[in-house]
Amino acid sequence: MGLIDLVKKAAFVDILRGMSVTGTYFAVDKVTVEYPKEKLQPYPRFRGAQALLTDPATGDLKCVACMLCATMCPSQCIHITGEQTPDGRSRPARFDLDLSRCVFCGFCEEVCPEAAIVMTQRYELATYDKSDFLLTKEKLLANQAWVHKELHGLEPNDRGEG
Ligand code: SF4
Ligand code: SF4
Repeated sequence: MGLIDLVKKAAFVDILRGMSVTGTYFAVDKVTVEYPKEKLQPYPRFRGAQALLTDPATGDLKCVACMLCATMCPSQCIHITGEQTPDGRSRPARFDLDLSRCVFCGFCEEVCPEAAIVMTQRYELATYDKSDFLLTKEKLLANQAWVHKELHGLEPNDRGEG
């Protein structure tokens, strides 16, 4: 140990330097939040659990069961059974998404030609029951409550990106 180090130690230089940093941050606003009492608002493009959207004008499910999202999904975690409506339209009779396999890549949202499936801001997904990770059509529709408001008005083929 050199003479300078010895003097520094004797004068508690490092401790005083550390205390000065602590003192500086003691006076400024805190940047941490007291989760779960306080919650942060995710950014609009945050990718949380998915939602299926309905047409605001008619209330009908936007999805036409084209299977594009299920085909593109790298985790193969979307399973759709299609059916025909009496007026000849195609829609999903079943739409299951296994969230335990999802990697939240957002491809399903990107490829959907009807802007029917979107990633929501729902991020609190921890559960003790594995079956909660199976998002059925009904659960995906309920997730509309978590959709960033701009996404509700999306027209087919309009992702609003650029
Ligand atoms: S976010 Fe990615 S992994 Fe998850 S369902 Fe969509 S395409 Fe599949
Ligand atoms: S890509 Fe869109 S319209 Fe096609 S099955 Fe998936 S959610 Fe439905």
